[in-house]
Amino acid sequence: MSSMLEKVSGANFDRRVFLKGAAVAAAGAVTASAVGCSSGNQEPQEETVEASARPENTLEEVDLWTDLPDPDAEGTWIPVACWHNCGGRCSNKALVKDGVVLRQKTDDIYADEEGQGHFQNRACPRGRSQQQQCFGADRLKYPMKRKNWEPGGVNVNGELRGVDEWERISWEEALDMIASELQRIYGTYGARSVYFSTYAYGPYSNILNTLGGYVYADTVESYGNWKMCCSAYGTPFYNSNPDIEGANDRFDLPNAETIVMLGGNPSWASGGSPSYHFARAKEAGTKFVYVGPSRNITASMLDARWIPVRPATDTAMLLAVAYVMLEQDEQKQLIDWDFLHTYCVGFDAKSMPEDAVLDENFKDYVLGVYDGVPKTPEWATEICGTPVEDIEWLAETVGKQHKVMLLHSYAAARSNGTENLSQLFLTIGAMGGHMGKSGHATGAMYHYEAGNAGPQLVKLGSATSAFVPNPITEVIPGGETWKAIVDGHYTYCGTSGSAVNGWAPKEERDIDIKAIISGANNFLQSKMNVNDGIRAYRKVEFAWANDYKLSSSCQYSDIVLPVTTKWEGYTPDTSSPGWINRESQVITSPVLEEGLYEAKSDQWIADQLADRLGLDRAALSPVSEKQNYFNMIAGAKYFAGGKLMYSQDSSALLTAAAKAKAAGEDFDMSGYTEEWKPLVTITQEDIDKFGDVVGEPQEGVIGFDEIRAQGVYQVEMTDDKRWIGYKDFIEDPEKYPRPSKSGKFEIYCQTKADGINSIGINPEPIKPYPNYIVPKEGYEESFADWSAKERGEYPFQMYTPHYLRRSHTTLDNLPWLQEAFENPVFMNASDGEALGLKTGDTVLVSSKWGQVLRHVSLMESVMPGAIAVPHGVRTDIDPETGIDTGGSENTLLGPVVSNYFPQVSGYNTCLVKVEKWTGEPIPYDYEKTFIPSV
Ligand code: SF4
Repeated sequence: MSSMLEKVSGANFDRRVFLKGAAVAAAGAVTASAVGCSSGNQEPQEETVEASARPENTLEEVDLWTDLPDPDAEGTWIPVACWHNCGGRCSNKALVKDGVVLRQKTDDIYADEEGQGHFQNRACPRGRSQQQQCFGADRLKYPMKRKNWEPGGVNVNGELRGVDEWERISWEEALDMIASELQRIYGTYGARSVYFSTYAYGPYSNILNTLGGYVYADTVESYGNWKMCCSAYGTPFYNSNPDIEGANDRFDLPNAETIVMLGGNPSWASGGSPSYHFARAKEAGTKFVYVGPSRNITASMLDARWIPVRPATDTAMLLAVAYVMLEQDEQKQLIDWDFLHTYCVGFDAKSMPEDAVLDENFKDYVLGVYDGVPKTPEWATEICGTPVEDIEWLAETVGKQHKVMLLHSYAAARSNGTENLSQLFLTIGAMGGHMGKSGHATGAMYHYEAGNAGPQLVKLGSATSAFVPNPITEVIPGGETWKAIVDGHYTYCGTSGSAVNGWAPKEERDIDIKAIISGANNFLQSKMNVNDGIRAYRKVEFAWANDYKLSSSCQYSDIVLPVTTKWEGYTPDTSSPGWINRESQVITSPVLEEGLYEAKSDQWIADQLADRLGLDRAALSPVSEKQNYFNMIAGAKYFAGGKLMYSQDSSALLTAAAKAKAAGEDFDMSGYTEEWKPLVTITQEDIDKFGDVVGEPQEGVIGFDEIRAQGVYQVEMTDDKRWIGYKDFIEDPEKYPRPSKSGKFEIYCQTKADGINSIGINPEPIKPYPNYIVPKEGYEESFADWSAKERGEYPFQMYTPHYLRRSHTTLDNLPWLQEAFENPVFMNASDGEALGLKTGDTVLVSSKWGQVLRHVSLMESVMPGAIAVPHGVRTDIDPETGIDTGGSENTLLGPVVSNYFPQVSGYNTCLVKVEKWTGEPIPYDYEKTFIPSV
């Protein structure tokens, strides 16, 4: 360890100094939590008074740490990782001196002037605070064991999970205990007794799958019902991302007259470059419309017209938009009938698909032919709360006479009962003919090759990793996970949340989980129904978690292992080739060659376990981490010309070519070429200097040291590299068919209806076209008597915006961010005043499933009746009352399964009540720490 790092590590910090420090390593003397993994509810000891006092320093002062050398005079700027799955993949830089980070900044390679073909890849406040994540006072420093748990399944004392004390143990002890527990549990109970995090993959899943596999939970994740089966009705699905590639790239945004955003808040959710590109469109004269339950910060920045809509009622609002378009079409020519009849099936009786078994179509449903209820704005407004004039205005705005981009963020579909929303969004876009042309688009605005992104023009090489498939096909529908473990049974509905062929008729199954393993995420915190999650943890015989901070999943485990961040060692982010920054590639370097304190990489831990379990380490970890890092850089390529093809268009082309060949017909493949060239020049001297890797010299366009120093390579953006979604399909629908059965957009989709109805969780069959479904825990259920409009016990609709302070549950522990972004619950000012509340008051928010305390922020920009509880904050259960003083939305969410599709993540459908808290006001989050003491 270098002298500078030793100096910092040996410093004796209190919390106030920590908040001021720019790069606090170790901070071992910070003792805000006196016992176990407590969370600040205990009385502070004498030396911890500063820890619980509200810091006096301001944001301007936080990086004034006079012990450190002048950052302008010393240190080296290096590109460092920001690896969280917000999707930004921005360029972060750190000024490093002897292994200590003195300052951070972001991309400053390019001048970022319009017309230069280059753009800065700017990091958000989260990325620029990451030094507190790596060097934070709350880093886990060594392996720990829960004091009252013993291996063997007898002295488990599971009821103490979450409140027990910790013991420091050696790596040898920790690894021996984990290996012996895995052998015991697999040997005694079998693989169906082990539950492992859904999203985790890589070294730990390889170990578990070699032992026999594990049970996991599947959901449609962040994508809501967009991920249900969008390919079946013809929209793109690539690399687990639905409706990606359908919208034009971000450089086309200024060509739209109007951009309609259905949900979405990139200024908070991925606060780097996406907002900048929307702002460029605004400067160019594009008007914005924002549809959602609040006029959020992105809508404010873009001066958008706000179309208020209650959570989970977007389907009703858009059906009324379709009604107005039909009603007004003769007078105003709003509908592109040619588009509907050329590129779609099922809009009306004239365009039904060949496989239709129901003699119904979308148009007649909207007009009320089948149920006697025309889907008028008056019908919709009772449900969605959107003013009639807003619906009428929106219908005219998205008509075919205007250049419109319809972009969505998935948030509206993270709701129960939104099974038809994605198909309806597509239908509205098709009615206006908004596809395949510059200035027109219908698709995702999400970060990956979508509306604020673009095609991949540079990519890393592949890391070599082993893949051991899971022999267990036991998949618990996501919302049911914790309840299933507590109750011992669940409803099996198939093995996949996103493909029709992975669904199966529902079947009740017993399950008896004995071990919970959190390998690469914090799933106790990130899944709905935290209270059942804690019960599940307390029920099993063994719980093991890895992290670099004491996450909720660690807090309730028996063994906790400290892992390295991606600022330590060569831990290639193997997901990064799929998470690139469009025309840019970010390549980072480690700040430290090895882990801080006793932290080890996931691969090192897996290797040690493989040895103890008698597994073939060489087969499971065939390549070292440093070699993989090198290989990914050596294998990097850039787009050097030809016809850009996204995955679905190229696969459609190849499918059509194969069909033609089978029929003995000619198929013109001319024009389909893509040229990719090596990006990085590597000399033998580079390889020797880098050390411990095998490689061959090669010619590229930027040197090995140069790319590692500047951190970003950007392909110059020119007109020939622009992407217009669906352009190939619109120009030649025969050659580039959509992935649906008909090869067109299916507004009537028999595949969707047959697939969902085969699961059978709703006795009322779903329609093949998009109709309105009354959502579970939606607006209608907030009334005890809907027709009399008599409110029920839980009158508020909770929704869960992604917050700038964190990316899901990560980065939330950083004091700078906690100070800057307080994380209150947001509610309408008139609702708050009716409850006798003022901003800053502590409120008790209750649902059927749990209770949380938070400060409240009253705003005019939240719809009456809605309450926003930001997603991802850390749970902090008061053991006396059972109330979550951390304010997690997942404490309020229960095990509710959506109307038709069991794996939907209904995070934006939860009914709550709000009351003024008469007890002690809760502290601010930056006054609490979660630092385990042993
Ligand atoms: S948290 Fe996301 S938006 Fe912020 S710097 Fe990191 S990658 Fe970029």
